[in-house]
Amino acid sequence: MIALEGIEKSFGDNLVLKGVSVVVPEGHVTALIGASGSGKSTLLRCVNLLEIPQAGRVCIDDAEIRFVPGGKVDRGAMLALRRKTGMVFQNFQLFPHRTVVENVMEALVTVLKWPRDRARARAMELLDKVGMRFKADEWPSSLSGGQQQRVAIARALAPSPKVLLCDEPTSALDPQLAAEVIEVLAQLAREGTTMLMATHDLRLAASIASNVVYLDAGEVVEAGPAGEVFGAPREPRTKVFISTLT
Ligand code: ADP
Ligand code: MG
Repeated sequence: MIALEGIEKSFGDNLVLKGVSVVVPEGHVTALIGASGSGKSTLLRCVNLLEIPQAGRVCIDDAEIRFVPGGKVDRGAMLALRRKTGMVFQNFQLFPHRTVVENVMEALVTVLKWPRDRARARAMELLDKVGMRFKADEWPSSLSGGQQQRVAIARALAPSPKVLLCDEPTSALDPQLAAEVIEVLAQLAREGTTMLMATHDLRLAASIASNVVYLDAGEVVEAGPAGEVFGAPREPRTKVFISTLT
């Protein structure tokens, strides 16, 4: 299980996360929804420690860090926690000077020190899974956005993370390309991949999320099963926000 507890994060005097607590049940997809600027990306970045929270607790599996204001964070503990996560970004962020298969192999070879042929075999398996094996030896720039995102998903999954963090994975794509990415994410969801996914895409959230967390101005307004939050939101703010989703 993944638990975030009382996460606080500020940039200068802008308090962006005001004590956010979220539980991400294992084997399920949790959608993180909220207006632009509400803190969704910052929260995801606090899970894999691309941002360091000032306070709170991040716990994934057997890795846990408690953050205290002004406190020092142990580097080894940070690496251990980060290795439990895989991240998919809005703009794919593939390494442009590496081929598709090399992108997927990268962490296995450089971080986990796997031999190249073992890493390549694992990468090819994952490319197969996302329907991108046929582009293994191409450059990312020759791929469509939807294809690049499918490769990015394979790359994030390569080291077998405990949780896949997705930051608006379809929002840079037109609907048809978004649909192929949604299909891949839906398949992963059916296989029981644990995901925490920030998204504006109601179709994506409604089709694969078991749970929904609605964030507004750095606070959790409402969280619960997707059917309840989407179908019968309790909080007036949630109702208004959901009516703006398309
Ligand atoms: P969302 O993903 O929900 O749109 P973000 O987490 O990107 O929201 O941003 C939340 C707030 O944090 C915004 O006010 C944004 O300007 C601020 N913010 C995010 N990252 C940084 C940063 N690196 N430096 C300063 N402010 C930031
Ligand atoms: Mg964002």
